[in-house]
Amino acid sequence: MRLTAGARTTRPAVLTGDTIGDDPVRVVDRATGTVIRRLDPGRAALVAYPGAVLLYRGRRFQVGGERPSYGAGSEVGAELHGEDVQTIRIRSIHTSILEPGELRPLSLGGATIRGGLSAVRVSETVTGARRHRSDGTLDGITGFEPIRASFRSFARVLLVGSTSEPALQALANLLRPCLAAVLDGGEEGLEIATAQRLELEGRAEEAGGGPLEGPALFLIDTYEGGAGYARAADARVLREALRLASAILEESCCESGCSRCVRTIHSHVEDPSKAALDRAGARVLTSRLLGLDRERG
Ligand SMILES: [Zn+2]
Repeated sequence: MRLTAGARTTRPAVLTGDTIGDDPVRVVDRATGTVIRRLDPGRAALVAYPGAVLLYRGRRFQVGGERPSYGAGSEVGAELHGEDVQTIRIRSIHTSILEPGELRPLSLGGATIRGGLSAVRVSETVTGARRHRSDGTLDGITGFEPIRASFRSFARVLLVGSTSEPALQALANLLRPCLAAVLDGGEEGLEIATAQRLELEGRAEEAGGGPLEGPALFLIDTYEGGAGYARAADARVLREALRLASAILEESCCESGCSRCVRTIHSHVEDPSKAALDRAGARVLTSRLLGLDRERG
């Protein structure tokens, strides 16, 4: 593993997303001038961060190592990258609920849970990137001054019922690619976060359905204002994605989680409390949500 110190600047970049509607930030191939990405200034630093590898027409381009400017109308330089690698942000995401919306009773085939769309504020901090080869092995880690972004969006909140944090985290990791497979484009548009304990004040008295507090999954639309991914992840989509996840969990690839199941390349988190993954627990949770536990008797 190579450790590379990234470009250092004196102050972290703080983005607010208030610039939406202005000229886009263009990521440009330095050799030819070809525009390989047009990005909203509010999100550009989260996509075209220093060292990011971006795909364009089947070829890989790497953003320069110096901290670029992400102002409206600015240009970010990138160069053709010969190696078959991809980059993943090292980041933390904090979600606060602005308006909880209605969390309705919901069944995905099994136990009744609660789910609904909530207006949220998403605060994302990117502190570096990991480079992976096409076989999933780690090629290197780059660190840089934190890039922070804060924006309003929507999240689908699912109160999944009693489970452990490692089981919930394992399912969240697995659900990400499964949801992306069901929702076209969801890989970039949906982020999945977990909460060990979600409490909605003054809502405990609502009758019927599943619990109104406890462990929760957040399916967060990562576009400013929401691009519709959280809304699109309805019961039908969730059921389909969970069935895909269940099929993977039924495979006997490993005992405690590997890169083919719950230890996906997106699974790195800064928060050590979320580093433990419980593959067996995720299987139990998925079976309960889909009602497979009852079918088995
Ligand atoms: Zn595995």
